Amino acid sequence: MKKKVLTVLLNVVLASTLFAQEVFDFNAFHSISSNELMEFATELSADKYEGRLSGSPEYLEAAKWCASKFEEWGIQPANNGSYFQYFPNAYSEVNSLGSVVYFNGDEKAYLDFPEDYIPGSNSASGTVQAELVYVGHGITAPELGYDDYATVDVKGKIIILESGTPYTKNDETLAKWSPYAYHRYKFRNAVKHGAAGMIYASKLANPNTVNLEGFVYAHVDTKVVAQIMADAGKDYQQIREQLKNMETPSFELPAEQKVFIRAETKYFPDAQACNVVAMIEGSDPELKDEVIIIGGHLDGQGKMGDVTFSSALDNASGISDIMGAAKALATSEVKPKRSVLFILLGGEECGLYGSKYYCNNPLFPLEKTKMMINLDMVGNGTAFFVSGGKTHSQLFSHFQNANNNFIHREIGASAVSKNYGRPRSDASVFEAAGIKTFGLWTRNSVYPVHYHMPADKTNVLTPEIMEDAAKLLYLGVLGVANDTKL
Ligand SMILES: [Zn+2]
Repeated sequence: MKKKVLTVLLNVVLASTLFAQEVFDFNAFHSISSNELMEFATELSADKYEGRLSGSPEYLEAAKWCASKFEEWGIQPANNGSYFQYFPNAYSEVNSLGSVVYFNGDEKAYLDFPEDYIPGSNSASGTVQAELVYVGHGITAPELGYDDYATVDVKGKIIILESGTPYTKNDETLAKWSPYAYHRYKFRNAVKHGAAGMIYASKLANPNTVNLEGFVYAHVDTKVVAQIMADAGKDYQQIREQLKNMETPSFELPAEQKVFIRAETKYFPDAQACNVVAMIEGSDPELKDEVIIIGGHLDGQGKMGDVTFSSALDNASGISDIMGAAKALATSEVKPKRSVLFILLGGEECGLYGSKYYCNNPLFPLEKTKMMINLDMVGNGTAFFVSGGKTHSQLFSHFQNANNNFIHREIGASAVSKNYGRPRSDASVFEAAGIKTFGLWTRNSVYPVHYHMPADKTNVLTPEIMEDAAKLLYLGVLGVANDTKL
């Protein structure tokens, strides 16, 4: 026992001489292991959690598993004795892969999953077969003098829709287009115009949409869309150029071209999801009122038929890194002076629900929140990147020092840039709430990144950088928590 205390002391002292004022515990630092982080990622990616679709019972099971680990490590619940902060989260269960069939006169082509199509995460259940109308971005914005539906009749037809807005430059004009960038807006606008169904020219699993009665849709690869266009005597490349030039090249396709879509889903409008919230109270009687948040989204893209979207890189990796750092901070002989709050966010894939809910219902005053670091897709690559690092440079110096002294990875950084468009990350929600926020992710990917596809499994994770990410978090957060000059 005595020997252990001595070793700990020696390690703490050693660390302090090597690392200026920022003292840490070598044993805690070295206890972070890639093997254990991969065990966490493998657990979270397991079929039993069905891709952690926010709102689903399986998501809540994954949340419970994470809470049980926090409890095991002596990390306290942060919401009045509970590890969970609940919020409303409607979702749809996709019960089969359904089917998408393309007819061109007498020819008939069955589309393949996942090469040609991915079922709509919030499609209505049912079938639709109809002629096609191309509607570009599907936007009706009278105040901008723009209407993709002006020259076409989509009643009872299947529309072909593009994501995004024709205006893409990140400046004040984009703010005017931003309300039209949301998938939800586009779906509602399509239904308002009488569309019976949709093929979305954007192939990925995407729960960030809305389930509208009778509106059946699927996400289709752009190469299929290009073929459909070619069969109609159109050049898809040229049409996309027209969109970029703010033209509205909408048109009705020849009557012999039809699509059939079958979707089997069940909608749960009153479901709930949660953030997992756990904390280590600061050791300093005054500084403990201030808090540092480590967060990342726990939810994934769910399951479609028998296919689980493990959502391993996005974002079992980030959650595993956070848990590795949490365990190390909990066992660290050097305690954080400020409090540390861990938030495993729900509803990110559905529209940043968990981060928005937290910022509207914070567990600590936002003005006492010194910083937030958000991890999303931190597990495939050889280098780090920190958005916001150049803006919040004093805070970032703790992470840079940690990296330079002990981790030795390439670490890039950018300034916080004002985003005039649709917010795309939990980090942007916290930053907009007035909290100094970093977004940490990995670069120089070693394996292909299968974004929102079934192939995002644990075999595309690089365990070495996950270990380093957790170590970077442990050192950097401890540095910030104990910096009395902040
Ligand atoms: Zn993500």
